[in-house]
Amino acid sequence: MRQTMLGHALTRLEQAARHLEIDGEVIEKLKYPRETVKARLMIRMDDGSRKSFMAWRCRYDDTRGPTKGGIRFHPSASMDETETLAFWMTFKCAVMNLPFGGGKGAVKVDPRTLSKAELERLSRAYVQAFAQTIGPDRDIPAPDVYTNAMVMGWMADEYASIIGRSAPSVITGKPIALGGSLGRDDATARGGFYLVRHLEKELGLGEGARVAIQGFGNAGAHIARLLDSAGYSIVAVSDTRGAIHAPGGIDVAALIEAKRRGAVRDLAGKGDVRALDDDALIGIDCDLFVPAALEDMIHAGNAEALRARVVLELANGPVTPEADAILGEKGVVVLPDILANAGGVTVSWFEWVQNRQGMSWPLTEIHARLKASMEAEGAAIWRVAQERGVSMRGAAYMHALLRLAEAIEAHGTQQFFMS
Ligand code: GLU
Repeated sequence: MRQTMLGHALTRLEQAARHLEIDGEVIEKLKYPRETVKARLMIRMDDGSRKSFMAWRCRYDDTRGPTKGGIRFHPSASMDETETLAFWMTFKCAVMNLPFGGGKGAVKVDPRTLSKAELERLSRAYVQAFAQTIGPDRDIPAPDVYTNAMVMGWMADEYASIIGRSAPSVITGKPIALGGSLGRDDATARGGFYLVRHLEKELGLGEGARVAIQGFGNAGAHIARLLDSAGYSIVAVSDTRGAIHAPGGIDVAALIEAKRRGAVRDLAGKGDVRALDDDALIGIDCDLFVPAALEDMIHAGNAEALRARVVLELANGPVTPEADAILGEKGVVVLPDILANAGGVTVSWFEWVQNRQGMSWPLTEIHARLKASMEAEGAAIWRVAQERGVSMRGAAYMHALLRLAEAIEAHGTQQFFMS
């Protein structure tokens, strides 16, 4: 039987539960999404024709607060993927102790085929379809793969016009001019960066460590810049159009410029940078491998080839459970997505709080708060991993599950019958 993606993800919950004394009802509650709404969005294209796109919004679990999670625009989006991503958000928010549950949204579309005006109509259509689902105290979207601040701005604007008043805290990752937070743009990478820096000694990393990055979108580009500024050497990078390698290190400013104009592979041939086969990236000799693209990139078929000692999961779900077992055998430390990329949703929380306060915090405060959270949760999870002899992923799930279980039990059994 073909296992669903959510089924796959749930194995991590079951593994964590085995190490803890958790009431069976808690696990039963976390095994299924609370609600998933589906809609077909119809928009007018620039040529006058009409086209439709499937869209979803899943509120996986709201025990710890309103559901929170991004909206992705991607041609391979599906309901199963959306629910899986919402499940991960539930655990991610609990890992960071944010007052949120987990949610996620998606539209099955290749946004690169749309004009800017079509993209705006699609973004507004999404909010029209899900206006009853989202809300500042109910479900709060944010950017994800192939969506950005501009899209969030259109969505916030559409929501305000539907409800007839401004409600900036309905969406995070907005443009600064519309109530966005300073520091949200690089927050996902920065959280991972603070985590790596804090655990440097334990992980055997530090200045001069060689890094390979898979994916050069928001997370990939920012982690390259941050690690480079700390003296790490970026030796290989890929995006959807190709990969490059330079054992002596890639000039990150030139890399970012190449990406801005086109693709990372445009740098091949400059200095000692050479083009690389996409699947060769994983076997590059390096110390830290950073998956920053999509799910299931490291799987049973290629995990053996990985040469790095540490993996920093900036993407959601980049390592399959089978690959996890292989990496564990090899002694590779995987800093799991629900901790490693949680900087994004943590600064989203700061944005939501600032919107509700009617205040704007300085960047130094955002960075200090993010750093403190990543270090505290990262160190706690490191300790659990050492004490219980489990992987960092196992420890992160245990850490989150204890918080979720406490909240589910504190709600009492009523919610099983009344909601
Ligand atoms: N899409 C991001 C994630 O997967 C951010 C979610 C948010 O800020 O709500 O964590």
